Amino acid sequence: EASLARQRAWVEVNTGAISANARSLKRCIGNGTELMAVVKADGYGHGSISVARAALAGGASQCGVATLSEGIELRRAGIEAPILVLGNLTQVEELRSCLHWQLMPTISGMREALLCQNLASGQGRPMALQLKLDTGMARLGADWQEGPRLVAAITELEAVQLAGLYSHLASADASADADDGLTDQQQRLFETVLQALEHQRLPAGIRHLANSAGTLRSPALHYDLVRVGLALYGHSPAAHLASVTPLQGAMTLHARVSLIREAGSGVGVSYGHRFRTSRPSRLAVVGIGYADGVPRQLSNQLEVLFAGQRLPQVGAITMDQLVLDATDCPGLEVGSVVTLLGQEGSEQITPTDWSDRCQTIPWEILCGFKHRLPRLTA
Ligand code: PLP
Repeated sequence: EASLARQRAWVEVNTGAISANARSLKRCIGNGTELMAVVKADGYGHGSISVARAALAGGASQCGVATLSEGIELRRAGIEAPILVLGNLTQVEELRSCLHWQLMPTISGMREALLCQNLASGQGRPMALQLKLDTGMARLGADWQEGPRLVAAITELEAVQLAGLYSHLASADASADADDGLTDQQQRLFETVLQALEHQRLPAGIRHLANSAGTLRSPALHYDLVRVGLALYGHSPAAHLASVTPLQGAMTLHARVSLIREAGSGVGVSYGHRFRTSRPSRLAVVGIGYADGVPRQLSNQLEVLFAGQRLPQVGAITMDQLVLDATDCPGLEVGSVVTLLGQEGSEQITPTDWSDRCQTIPWEILCGFKHRLPRLTA
């Protein structure tokens, strides 16, 4: 806390909120389904190690990462829960590291299955991996129609253990509000594979399909495990899913006023004079900018909270600073701390408020905060 006095801007992460969200999501999915905490991209910008610990304490039983090094970071921190690498690992060396660190790779076909077989044969115990199927994303995963054939072939490999079979939903963000049957279609294809496997009595380990949107949408999508990112951090992927289970935003963003200046009427503010005062004004310069992860597209649209009041940001957001119109807020002074994301009294500003205004998604806002911003984890 003492070092806060030296900071011009910082992110605060409330790990209690992460644990509470995990508990809430666990209640929503019930006992028959496991919760995987998706902590890739440094825990969506919240800090992967502290998020993983908090989510596991709240009832998650596994972690999902995108890359090998993200998985190793969790293992080095002493996290022992199962970790699934969601990205595709193509190099033998990457798969060897998976074996060493007990990280479970995702494979999209026989090429990687055979690499794992070669690595693990003679090791005394099989290498666990999961097979991903593409049911409508055209990204990672084998074509779903190949599913039964691949499961049969992988089952033949004695040094490999097929620990799971999964797919990923294309309906994930606000577009999930107009899903148009996309999720139903993907689920139908996934089910077709599962039924074929059942028919052939081929076990394929745990089955999973749902991201945050799928988890909140329907219990029929829960299967053995759900892979939850955005909702774990306290944000609903789509407006109509916001009331399914209580979620609490875990991140707040603060910055300090570095200068107050008086300006007459008609004064142009910041680059390009994209704002001009229309009255004698009191302007406050705040030490945070787009190099910290505040999107420049929010120029003239951003608001901040101070003492429960909303203040407008004016003019272009610059690399390291932005300007507030504090004319109606005489209490704001040099050194005052404003809230850019978070709650003050009855007022709240969320990553979705930002993303709606600059045509992106809350995921990109959360992952966009740069290392220059210190993170305080409580
Ligand atoms: N599963 C996979 C394979 C993913 O790539 C992601 C994130 O992109 C997730 C689950 C979590 O998604 P969400 O943040 O929408 O819950």
